[in-house]
Amino acid sequence: MSIPAFDPRTPVIPLRGEIDEAVARVLDSGAFVLGPEVAAFEAAFAEQLGAKHVVSVANGTEAITIALRAIGVGPGDEVIVPSFTFFASAEAIPPTGATPVFCDVDPGTRCVTAETVRAAMTPRTKAVVVVHLFGNVAPVAEIEALGVPVVEDTAQATGALGVRADGSVASAGTLGKAGTFSFYPSKNLGGFGDGGAITTDDDAVAEQARLLRLHGSRAKDTYLEVGYNSRLDGIQAAILGVLLPHLPAWVEHRRAAVDRYRASALAEVVGLPVDGPGTSPAWNLMVVTHPEADRLAAGLQERGIEARAYYREPIHLQPAMKPWPTTVDLPGTTHLAAQHLALPLSAAITDAQVDEVAAAVAELA
Ligand SMILES: *Cc1c(COP(=O)(O)O)cnc(C)c1O
Repeated sequence: MSIPAFDPRTPVIPLRGEIDEAVARVLDSGAFVLGPEVAAFEAAFAEQLGAKHVVSVANGTEAITIALRAIGVGPGDEVIVPSFTFFASAEAIPPTGATPVFCDVDPGTRCVTAETVRAAMTPRTKAVVVVHLFGNVAPVAEIEALGVPVVEDTAQATGALGVRADGSVASAGTLGKAGTFSFYPSKNLGGFGDGGAITTDDDAVAEQARLLRLHGSRAKDTYLEVGYNSRLDGIQAAILGVLLPHLPAWVEHRRAAVDRYRASALAEVVGLPVDGPGTSPAWNLMVVTHPEADRLAAGLQERGIEARAYYREPIHLQPAMKPWPTTVDLPGTTHLAAQHLALPLSAAITDAQVDEVAAAVAELA
């Protein structure tokens, strides 16, 4: 019996009947791009998150580009982004015309902090892409207190809770100026294809995002901006609508599995993820650190356990980012890039699987 790194299939098996019905409804309606299913999913997602607006888009990468443009980012601006994240967090910035400026992350939470953002700020800083990495939640309010708007890249943290500036608890993605989500199959709320969304409480930002996702157009034949073809499909929206009510239970399952890992023998031999202060993470990946992470992964592989590093080469060292060399030291990024390792985690992982992985890591480390 092998233990997969993640398992998006098992949790949806009991929902197959409902999903088939939802897909059939779209086939019968003929509304394949945007349309009533998309509007209904946007409303349901907004309600579940406690967001005023949800604007769905084609994927989580374009969600960041469109959100940044919708809050006014453009040529000549700088946007701060961590280097230790999925490439898309930074890749989404140059298409706005702005310059990505890399900042460091905290080795414990693996997220940016007010200190790491402040170190990268200049008079040209227009926004920060704060990544809620691996499902953890970054201190958005502390960062906005520096005087710069935050776009929360929530692609890995759908279902997490954080703290707003007024001290109230709210969904990750609704803590700052705007939030972005991905419905790629491996995410906490994964569809059966690509999809994404933007959240905001700001009417003007929502209006601008709606315009940008549809070729910069509000009414047919008038194009106010050079925008994007970035729309969600009716079939994806209908499927996501079936999955959405199950998200809280799936997130709870992931959280319990991470707690079980933390309480195991593994805690003695690897670095563990630390919850963002006052937050309730929605762990998408269970990432530990070890000086010989690749040796551990190879040993786990021999035992049929899938473990892998995601960002061994951080973004600021990627060939595509050569035009934007880093301006600050990134010791947390360097440490995590070299030592991180994701262990199996999913909304379907069993206690026995967690125990088997933990025992194997404890033995190998
Ligand atoms: C997945 C992901 C994205 C991009 O989402 P897509 O829907 O795949 O475009 C952006 N940022 C982070 C942190 C991600 O994990």
